[in-house]
This record gives sequence, structure tokens and C-alpha cells, in this order.
Amino acid sequence: MLHERDNIRDELFDEVFASTELSARLPKFRMPQSEQLARHAYQLVSDELILDGNSRQNLATFCQTWLEPEVRDLMSQTLDKNMVDKDEYPQTAAIEARCVHILADLWNSPEAENTLGTSTTGSSEAAMLGGMALLWKWRERRRAAGLSTDKPNLICGPVQVCWHKFARYWDIELREIPMEHDRLIMTPDEVISRADENTIGVVPTLGVTFTGQFEPVAAVSAALDDLQTRTGLDIPIHVDGASGGFLAPFTAPDIVWDFRLPRVKSINASGHKFGLAPLGVGWIVWRDASELPEDLIFEVNYLGGNMPTFALNFSRPGGQVIAQYYNFVRLGYEGYRRVQQACYDTALYLAEEITKLGHFEIINDGSPEHGIPAVSWKLVEGVDHGFTLFDLADRLRTRGWQVPAYTMPANRQDLAVQRILVRAGFSRDEATLLMDDYRDAIAHFDRHPVSVPMSEEEAGSFHH
Ligand SMILES: *Cc1c(COP(=O)(O)O)cnc(C)c1O
Repeated sequence: MLHERDNIRDELFDEVFASTELSARLPKFRMPQSEQLARHAYQLVSDELILDGNSRQNLATFCQTWLEPEVRDLMSQTLDKNMVDKDEYPQTAAIEARCVHILADLWNSPEAENTLGTSTTGSSEAAMLGGMALLWKWRERRRAAGLSTDKPNLICGPVQVCWHKFARYWDIELREIPMEHDRLIMTPDEVISRADENTIGVVPTLGVTFTGQFEPVAAVSAALDDLQTRTGLDIPIHVDGASGGFLAPFTAPDIVWDFRLPRVKSINASGHKFGLAPLGVGWIVWRDASELPEDLIFEVNYLGGNMPTFALNFSRPGGQVIAQYYNFVRLGYEGYRRVQQACYDTALYLAEEITKLGHFEIINDGSPEHGIPAVSWKLVEGVDHGFTLFDLADRLRTRGWQVPAYTMPANRQDLAVQRILVRAGFSRDEATLLMDDYRDAIAHFDRHPVSVPMSEEEAGSFHH
């Protein structure tokens, strides 16, 4: 009896960390046999997360890591809403449609009110949908002309991995323009030299992952116009505006990259990057309804009502879309402009400070005309610095900073760069603290030059 009473007391009154449950390791491979108290399980699981990096110091990610408290409230209010249940949650569906039309208008669609588009889980799903529409349209044209459809190709510059996936999943030849010397993005000539009757489309990126630079959409479009005049080949453009789609309209409105160019048929962007929404939302918008082949659209009736859908996912959370709309309402055009401009100002400040350190040469300076608010740089060549960018990245981690260093794709695998993404939530004060830590890290390597430099693999793989 006494023993049992002790047990009951254990469970009811013990401090969490003195409980029997917290005296054992968490299971790693098999579900535990019995249940435990919610607050014990919560403590265990949430404490494991302490080992994750601090997302606010993660200067590698493009994704939003600072969110207004109102966004968190909206997210918890909408945890139970399934984006796909458009008949049950008609207001969520209406809000999604408003976002599509707002983006179509922001991207200068000639018919913003009638444009087709959808939210997705991110730019990767949006890119897959955009690529599929290009493939279907190309096949339609080829079949109508009685021509073969077995060798489709897609032309792009140094793209994000989602386009490699698209090409592999759909068995499309990816004609990815390699980097050469100081040219780290596509040029019109490089595009045209790869174009032929089997090209389903060209994908310029507004904010190339590796450096942050904008690819020259208008110049590529003009070159394709010229190609059409000379050869009759009419090749459409899809713009991967994962980051730039939410930047250029506000901070570089004179760059013509969007539906102002008739050749641009579709655009994707990540709501959870510079759209300032929480993780899990992307967008794709077509120029007009005719660019989206009808047999890609499924009509489902089992949710009640007849609902057209074009998506890879079925069930998916609705909160991110609602938070996206909140941001549109909350910030408006002027608010977005100010938020993005603040990021650019901090990026320009960092580019100046990094240059002053003496070891580095800037590749992208974070100005709104050149790219996204990302600063990228390499080590000054022909000098023994006493460290590599990988050593430096490793050293900065001792202060919690995650500043990625990585090598470029083909044909510049010899070139290592470091990059900082400046997002809303990374203040000027934090930037000055980061620069103090850069100076300390370099002083450390002055005292202790690295004799065996760290390799990219040892420094930990970095995923774009
Ligand atoms: C981030 C990114 C993607 C992938 O977007 P997700 O929203 O992470 O799926 C695609 N293209 C570019 C240029 C990107 O920056």
C-alpha cells in the first residue's frame, strides 16, 4: 500500500525532470509500449529541438523566420482548415482566389481578374505545375502539326534543384546553361544557341539561388522574339520568381520581367520567402486561362460542390494562405516596399563592411537592380588567407551564425562562395554584431592559420 501511494505521488507532484519518464532515453526506432503524461512528452520533444540551429541566425535560408504575433494567432486559429475542402471552407477558398488575383495584378497580367492560378506548398510544387503546363502545351502544338513529342527539352540558367526534379520526373532534357568565368547566369545568346523545335520553354530565375542575381528576362524574351521572326519557333517563358517575384515589383519596378512581356506565360513565387508568409505556401499564376491546358485540371465532386483543382497535393493546411492574405491587407504595396527596402539597405551595408575586411571580393552586392537582398562573395584570389570560406563558416557557428559556404555548379565547381540572405527580421543591429564576429573570426585565423583547410563535405553539406 505504502509503495503504491509513493507511485501515485510520483506522478502527481513530481517536478518534470525528476519523473520516471524523464529518467530514460527517448525511443528512436520503435513506438513505446505505453503512454505518458502530455507535459512530460512535451518537455522531452521540445527540449530535443534546442539542438537545432536558431532559425533567426540562419542566414542561409530564403524562408521567413520572423513572423508577426498576429500571423501566429491566425496560424493557430486555422490549424484545422484543409485547403482542399473548398466547399466546407468557402471563405478560405475565396481568400486564396483573392491572393491569386492580387499577385496577377502585381505581376501586370493583362487580365488579372480572370487569370488562373493557385496556391501550392511552395515554389517547388508551383514549378512542377508550371513546367507541366509548358510540356502539355508543347505536346498539343506538336501533335496538331503531326510532329513527334518524344524529345522535349527545357532551357534554363543555374537553377534551383526543383527544376532538376521536374526534368527528371517528366523525362525532359534539361539544357542548363553552365557558368563560365565571371558569367554566373544565363545570357540571351546562350539561350538561343540551345533552342530548337523541341524546346518546351525557357526558365529564367529572378534571384538565382547561388548568387542572388536576377537573370535578364526582357533580353531573353527579345532574343526569343527575334528567333521567332527568323525561324517561326515560338518558345514560351516561365519565370521562376521564387524570391524575386515578391521583390522586384516593390523595389525595382522598372525591371521588366513579368506579364508585361507577352512571352511570359507563367510565374511562380514562394509566399514563405519574401512573400513574408510562414512556411508552406507558394504561388503560380498563368498569364491567361488559355495557357493552362484543361486536361491538367481535375473536377472533384466528393467534397460537395464541383471543384476544379490543379495541384500535386490533396490535403494541405490553409493557414499559410490566410496569413499571406493577412500580409497583403496588413502591409499593402507601401508596406511591402518598405520591408523589402530595409532588407536591401542592410544587404548593401553588409557588402560594404565585408569588402572592408580585405579578404573578400563581392559577387552580388544586394542592390535591388541586380538581384535579391543577398550578398555573395569569394576570397580574393592569389593570396594565402590562412583560412577557407568553409573554415570561416565553421568558426562563425561557434556564435550560432549559419552563413553558408559552398561551391558553384558546372562549370565553376572551382569557385567557392559565401552568401548571406537578408530577410525581414534581420536588423541592422544584428548585422553589426555579425560583422564584429567576422572580425573576431579573422583575427582568430591570423593567430592560428589553418594548416589543413576544411573541405566542403567536412564543413557540413549545405542545401539550397
Ligand atoms: C527556393 C527556391 C525554389 C524552391 O522553392 P520552395 O518554396 O522552397 O519550394 C525554387 N526556385 C528558386 C529560385 C528558389 O529560390
